[in-house]
Order: sequence, then C-alpha cells, then structure tokens
Amino acid sequence: MKNSQRIEGMDFNLTEKQKNIQSIARKFSYEEIAPVALERDKISDWEKRMPWDLTEKASKLGLRQLPYPEKYGGLNGDVVSCCLAGEELAVGDLGFAVNLDQTWKLAHILEKVDPHVRDPWLKKLCEEPRFLAAIPMTEPDCGSDHQGYYDDVSIALNTFAHKKNGKWIINGQKRYISNGPVASLYVVAARTDKNKNLREGLSGFLVPRETKGISIGEVNEKIGQRLSMNSEIFFNNVEIPEDHIILGEGSMFEIRGNLLSMGKPEAAATALGVGRAAFEHALSHAQERVQGGKVIGKHQAIEMMLADMAMNLDIARNYILKTAWAVDNQKPYDYTQGWKCKIFASEAAFECARLGVEIFGGAGIMQSSPMEKYLRDASTFLHSDGTNQLLRLRIGKTYFENLVSRF
Ligand SMILES: Cc1cc2nc3c(=O)[nH]c(=O)nc-3n(C[C@H](O)[C@H](O)[C@H](O)COP(=O)(O)OP(=O)(O)OC[C@H]3O[C@@H](n4cnc5c(N)ncnc54)[C@H](O)[C@@H]3O)c2cc1C
Repeated sequence: MKNSQRIEGMDFNLTEKQKNIQSIARKFSYEEIAPVALERDKISDWEKRMPWDLTEKASKLGLRQLPYPEKYGGLNGDVVSCCLAGEELAVGDLGFAVNLDQTWKLAHILEKVDPHVRDPWLKKLCEEPRFLAAIPMTEPDCGSDHQGYYDDVSIALNTFAHKKNGKWIINGQKRYISNGPVASLYVVAARTDKNKNLREGLSGFLVPRETKGISIGEVNEKIGQRLSMNSEIFFNNVEIPEDHIILGEGSMFEIRGNLLSMGKPEAAATALGVGRAAFEHALSHAQERVQGGKVIGKHQAIEMMLADMAMNLDIARNYILKTAWAVDNQKPYDYTQGWKCKIFASEAAFECARLGVEIFGGAGIMQSSPMEKYLRDASTFLHSDGTNQLLRLRIGKTYFENLVSRF
C-alpha cells in the first residue's frame, strides 16, 4: 500500500460512455425523480413510500445494474461512471440514490466470488427490475465496533454461523440496514469463530432474501433518506449453501476494508448530489427573491454563501472523481482516499444544505420547501457508511502505522 497515492498520468477527460451515463442519469433525475421526491418523502407508510416505480424505470435505463457485466444486461460501468450517475440521482433524491448505490456495492464483492456461485446471481440481479442488495453488518450492540478501528474478541457482534451437514447455519440480528426490507440478496457479516477477534473470526455470506428463517423487524422511520427503506433483520437457523461464504472463513475484514472501500467514492458522490441540489435551489432562489431593493443574490452576504457552497462542491467532486479514477486504474488503491472522500463530501453537503436554509430564509424551514428535506437528507450521511469520527480514526491509524505514503 505504501506510495500508492502517486498519480500515474491522470486523464481529466470523461469518455463518451461516461458522459452518456451521466446524461442519462441527469435526465432521469430531473424529469422523473425530483418532481415526485418531496411528496413521496412525506408518505408515512413505508410500503407506499418505497419507490418501486422509479426502481423499475432505473432498470430500463440500465442504472440499477450499472456496474454489472453487459452480457447479463448491465452497463459495465466503471467506478467513475457510478460516481457520475450517483451524484445525478441524488440531486433528485438521496434515498433513491442510496438504494441503487447499495446494489452497486455488491459488484466489488461479487467480482471476487467463485463464478459458479456468482454468475447465476449476476444474471438474476440484472434481469429482475426490482432486484436490490443490502449489506447487513450493524447490530444492536455493535455499530462503530465493526468498522475495524477497534478489535477484540469481546466485541458484541453476535450473529454466528456454524457448519452443519454441509450447510452454513446463521443465527442473529442486524439493525439499521439500508434496503433491509426490500433487498433480494444480502451480504451478511457473521462470526465463524467465537474465540477470535473480528479480523480473524468474522466472515461474509451471500444470503438470498427468500431463505427460510429470515424475517424483517422494525422498518425505521428516519428523518432523511426516506425513500431508502432501512430495517432490522432477524436470522433464525437460516441455512445457506456451503459455497455461499465469500473468500473463505475470516474474510469479512478483507471484504469490508478493501472491497467495500472501493465503493466509498460512489457513496460520497451521492452525498455530493444532495449538496448540489441545495446549491441549485439556493441559487435560483437568490436570483428571484427581492429584498433591500434588489434580488438577494446581489447582497454580498448571500454571494459569499453561494461561493462557499460552490467551492466545496467543486473540491468534493474533483476529489471523488480522482479517487474513483484511482480505484479503476491504480493498483494498489489507497483506500484512505475513499474514506476521506466520504468525510469531505458528506460534510460539504451538510454545510451546503445549512447555508441553503439560510438563503431561503423562513421558507427554508417550511416543509413545503425542498431545502428542509435537503438538510434532513444531508444529515444522514455524516453518520451512515461509517461515522465520520470512525473514518477519521481509521485514516489516522493507517498513517500512524505507516501503511500508506504521506505524499
Ligand atoms: C441511514 C443509515 C443507513 C445505514 N445503513 C447500514 C447498512 O446498510 N448496513 C449496516 O451494517 N449498517 C448501516 N447503518 C449503520 C451504521 O453503520 C451505524 O449506525 C454506524 O456504524 C454507527 O454505529 P451506531 O449507530 O451503533 O453508533 P455508535 O457506535 O454507538 O456510535 C455513537 C457515537 O460514538 C462514536 N464512537 C463510537 N466508537 C468510537 C471510538 N472507538 N472512538 C471514538 N468515537 C467513537 C461514533 O462515531 C458516534 O459518534 C446505517 C446507518 C444509518 C444512519
């Protein structure tokens, strides 16, 4: 991993394919997602709120299955393409973008799975227009503790898997899981050795949703990402085939630390999208609202807020795309870049939403305005995909242990 931050001739031009994917996602977002997002957000019944209609439309456009192979019906999009599309979709609605991003993350994992297990799943995923994925790791007594900063045998990750008659049997409980109640396939983290710490004793399993013994508990009512359904999941003697363990016993840290870290710029791009939505709305409001004898955008206080928003969004986008490019082109990829992207983009988006609320004045607080929704949505990303505190700690530790180059 040392010296992996070097840049080996980065090309800032997007390919025709990347531009095309960006423009499909942008059109879909502005024409189909944004016009319904605010009303959909307010629906209290989660089953009615779930945007299956948009999911099916995204499938027709190839966006749901964006990173998957063309031979199964995907677009074979690289990480740069997923970031471009993720930003556009999140301008329309962050929760909807998260639903697809959780499904894209699986691509980084499936790449490493044995073809005889992987290929039937790839086919199903691409063909079924409502196929979404989820990654259940968090449990009631284990949130930050599964992030890899702290590790000890006593950590209360209490989902266990043991082998019986050639099958894995999984028992346990997960919570706060994005796509929990709606996914067709889970990547479940379960301990395979109670006497080992997580680094050595935590394993990852591909678990089909329809398997007997799986049930959905509480579907959480969140302040943001309300078009993304998030729930508890219970596993009660869930039997899965022996070959559905990913990369063998004790590999969940490799899956989380390396494979899922490749998806971090994609998650960061969705956070960026909600910041951009706040900026775009704040800008048009500043161009129309008249106070003090002129449009408020001509008051320097407002101009400065708009400048700060634009500057932070530009920095976030550049860093996300640089990181995405590194994932696509540079081996080994310095995974701290993905963590940094997520921290920076989520904090920039939250600040944009906060400034957007100020630029809207009283209207920013009202539920009839999109701005209060952006603030709620942006707040979720400070926390999901690993809290920014824990990501900072992991970055610091990686440097401290001299695992990456400082320059
Ligand atoms: C919208 C959303 C979507 C999510 N989706 C998923 C999902 O799909 N799959 C999944 O598995 N999980 C998911 N999560 C769960 C998420 O990963 C956890 O909420 C997160 O890891 C924090 O765990 P916790 O909530 O238990 O908080 P805690 O771990 O209790 O943390 C509370 C506070 O203490 C801080 N803290 C904890 N430990 C330390 C430490 N060692 N040093 C310093 N500070 C510390 C944290 O940063 C935080 O500020 C999601 C959460 C949200 C909000």
